[in-house]
Amino acid sequence: MNAPAVAASREGALLSITGVVQGVGFRPFVHRLAMRHGLSGWVLNSAGDVQVHVEGARQSIDDFAHALAAEAPPLARIESLDRTACEVDGLEGFTIRESHDDPDRRQPVSPDVAMCAACEAELNDPSNRRYRYPFITCTDCGPRYTVIDAMPYDRERTSMRAFTQCPECLREYQTPGDRRYHSETNSCPACGPRLSLVPPFHMVERGPGGEAHVVEKRSGGEAGGVERGSEEPIDEAARLLVDGKIVAVRGLGGFQLAVDATNESAVRRLRIRKRREAKPFALMVRTVAEARALASVSWAEEEALASRERPIVLLRKRADAPLAPSIAPGLDSVGIMIAYTPLHHLLLERAGRPLVMTSGNVSDEPIAIENADAQRRLRDIADAFLLHDREIVARYDDSVVRFANDAPVFLRRARGYAPLPIDLPVPTPVPLVAVGPHLKNTFTVAHGRWAFVSQHIGDLENLETLEHFQAALEAYKRLFRVEPEVVVRDLHPGYLSSRVAEELGVARIIGVQHHHAHVAAVLAEHGIREPAVGLAFDGTGYGEDGNVWGAEVLVADLAAYRRVAQLRYAPLPGGDLAARSPWRVALGYLSLEPEAAGAFAAAFEGVPERERSIASQQIVQHLNAPLASSMGRLFDAAAAILGVRRLAQYEGQAAMELEALAGRHAAEPLPFPVRENGRGAWVLDPLPLLFALGERRLAGSGAAELAARFHESIAAASADVALRAAAAADTRLVALGGGCFQNARLLVSVRARLEGQGITVLVPRRLSPNDGAVSYGQAAVAAARLQRDLVL
Ligand SMILES: [Zn+2]
Ligand SMILES: [Zn+2]
Ligand SMILES: [Zn+2]
Repeated sequence: MNAPAVAASREGALLSITGVVQGVGFRPFVHRLAMRHGLSGWVLNSAGDVQVHVEGARQSIDDFAHALAAEAPPLARIESLDRTACEVDGLEGFTIRESHDDPDRRQPVSPDVAMCAACEAELNDPSNRRYRYPFITCTDCGPRYTVIDAMPYDRERTSMRAFTQCPECLREYQTPGDRRYHSETNSCPACGPRLSLVPPFHMVERGPGGEAHVVEKRSGGEAGGVERGSEEPIDEAARLLVDGKIVAVRGLGGFQLAVDATNESAVRRLRIRKRREAKPFALMVRTVAEARALASVSWAEEEALASRERPIVLLRKRADAPLAPSIAPGLDSVGIMIAYTPLHHLLLERAGRPLVMTSGNVSDEPIAIENADAQRRLRDIADAFLLHDREIVARYDDSVVRFANDAPVFLRRARGYAPLPIDLPVPTPVPLVAVGPHLKNTFTVAHGRWAFVSQHIGDLENLETLEHFQAALEAYKRLFRVEPEVVVRDLHPGYLSSRVAEELGVARIIGVQHHHAHVAAVLAEHGIREPAVGLAFDGTGYGEDGNVWGAEVLVADLAAYRRVAQLRYAPLPGGDLAARSPWRVALGYLSLEPEAAGAFAAAFEGVPERERSIASQQIVQHLNAPLASSMGRLFDAAAAILGVRRLAQYEGQAAMELEALAGRHAAEPLPFPVRENGRGAWVLDPLPLLFALGERRLAGSGAAELAARFHESIAAASADVALRAAAAADTRLVALGGGCFQNARLLVSVRARLEGQGITVLVPRRLSPNDGAVSYGQAAVAAARLQRDLVL
């Protein structure tokens, strides 16, 4: 064949690539690829995409374009690749050009990801110039979202701009083919961020005459802080940890509090100082093998543990695990993550044991990110501070995931996942902000089909969390260039989020019912626009009738819903207080059927008579005793009646303990009847179930067996009512949402019962079943309504 004449002619092509293509080593990758295919031209970051101009033989350009998609760097996510022919400029060589900006374009930002294997090898190589350098990164790994101020992604728009690259780093940065070619976070011990270890400020107490006494001096040694860019602060911090001390570590997206996980008195001291009575602490280890020594790890769990996202994975604790009992009291699970930064690796290696690695905050406040703020807020908790001088731009909690039959269930979505966008099946015709729920808040900023769901923000109950919310929202609006024309909020008039929505100064506000948002979030995540049955089981959500909803069966699409079944209403004496006192919930149910008093007796053991009589009065007089149909509270009532828990130290504790108690033993359901309410809807009546639990407990049945039967009763009744609703609505789709579906036993059982009847069950995949998904659901509902209004 004599084709050389064709092959020799030069052609030009302009390629535009969208998706996560900035901050992930994409330009260097394009450069390498162009060199390999003998093409000349340039690549640049623009605000909306990466643009590539190549010149060369037709076949080479084809191969190049194919390889762009097929061999993209690990962190890249290509959404589209457009190619158009263009003029041949006769360019020599291939260059990376200056970024240019287009204020109307937007594009995703990469999450932070764990240290890659190549960097880890260098970290442990004594001959490497970055040996034991705690901020080692490359184009494939390290911080991104937590250092980026604005797009396009270049060092000058990140918190790395404070560190000027030394000649050697600069050479890597400028050398095509180097792993750190155009790596914007590139640094080394000579030019990068530095660590220091400092003691907390001394606590001073003034006497009556104003004289000062240093009452406590917890410190990392008399010599004061070790402030060097070397590894010494890590050695010293590790020594303190081994000594049972608490060290506040400035990590990737905020401070963490570290303590020896095998030292019970140290863990207990952390609980007391942090004012966190019982809520489980997460652990950090270096390897999957170390995790296996503490918990059983399935292949799916191993994959998640070792993934570059490195979430905390909730694992089944081994009975012989050498862990302090106070880490997760009353639970059979333990949350473990694998070290994800070089700093964590070095610290764990030196400490030589698993460490508790919990958020650096006091009770429900957001985590601290700035050195001075942490030193102020955590001074009564930490014995020393391991600091660094690279500013954290965004607060970024650890993500938490658990597995239900090898399928991941998010409990918290933050580091490693946010702020990647999630598609909206119905694109929003105008930019919008959905401010999310009251508890476990996230917000969503949406433009077109892109929904940028924020990382976990927290409970909007204090000023600090509200400020975190506002700062993060400003950052999202800036990064993704969204100026909202619509604000979406919950229906509850009293929530802080509702006030925030009003204060955004946007004229158009759309209200979305909480449980509709839950169901819409699941439908939207699966790209479903048609109506489906939705089970929304959670603690609390404001109902359209003014009551507290929380065990709702809806027939819903993205724009609208009908409530077709609910849990029977019962008064909730004390309102929000009841979420922390399961006995009050039991009392509310008892008021519906006073003759059950004997069976319910265990719920009130140890409850002061006076408190009980006040709660009874509240019920009788309808004072602060709202009617509730809450599945979360039903779990509380059952826990109280079984004598498992009458007072909760954190929300959801009773339910988590019931799940742990139930284990995986097979169990038969107890009676949990479904009846029609005469208005075309069904009511699930839990009183026979609660009564049976109490009676059997009195008769000597074990709490574990009854906890298992309770779970199966809920699952069977839910599946039953979902099937009836699906038949009536002529659908085979059932979506499961709401915080109760974090309960793996309940989720697995409901799912199996429905799938056994030929139903397609939709469960949350990329978002949590809990309120962390509500803002995305709100955005999906608002987008669908806005779109519908355009059509009408
Ligand atoms: Zn790397
Ligand atoms: Zn350097
Ligand atoms: Zn909810």
